[in-house]
Amino acid sequence: MKMIGLIGGMSWESSAEYYRILNEGIRERVGPTASAQCVMWSFNFAEIEDLQHRGDWATLTTRMVDAARRLEAAGADVLLICTNTMHRMAATIEDAVAVPLLHIADPTAERIKAAGIKTVGLLGTAFTMEHAFYKGRLAEQHGLDVIVPNDEDRATVHRIIYEELVAGRILPASRDAYRAIIARLVEAGAEAVILGCTEIMLLVKPEDSAVPIFDTTALHAAAAIEVALAG
Ligand code: GLU
Repeated sequence: MKMIGLIGGMSWESSAEYYRILNEGIRERVGPTASAQCVMWSFNFAEIEDLQHRGDWATLTTRMVDAARRLEAAGADVLLICTNTMHRMAATIEDAVAVPLLHIADPTAERIKAAGIKTVGLLGTAFTMEHAFYKGRLAEQHGLDVIVPNDEDRATVHRIIYEELVAGRILPASRDAYRAIIARLVEAGAEAVILGCTEIMLLVKPEDSAVPIFDTTALHAAAAIEVALAG
């Protein structure tokens, strides 16, 4: 079994989900006492969040590359960045290490395309919903049409992630807000919705949406299991 390297702690609330999903998946596939071979570099998210909101992407890139190299040195055969937002510097990380990086958008997009879906709504941090690195990959490499919420809704989605979900607060009022935002994405033509932030799955479940939801946390971890078990 290959060693999975996880760049985590962004936040640890979702990294814990990765760890759980990886281990449950390996148990199911390999046997009751089997578990994932993995190593995680877990950041202090308060530092990461501060740098993000100051727009210091250069320092963030240095930190991410450093984490990737440490995981490679620890024996990782494949790397996962356990956050959508920090895929902003995925290409730089890929260039800095010899081991492959499993990009979170790819298994998600593959599953969407396999379902015959073309137009997707995207929920995530403002960085993910507004900057080109994520939407661009979905559009250019996978041919998907991506819809994002309106200004006010994007602000709500972002605020709930940073004020609540990364702090482990799961509030029914926020679930209602996400439900309403998803409904507006569906009205705007979304045939499915990507949970493009690794904590949203803690709040939003399939029953909160009239269209299928694609959870990046689960799909990314499931893809890592395939890589870990492949020849
Ligand atoms: N986990 C989140 C994501 O998937 C947000 C935290 C972060 O900014 O890294 O984007």
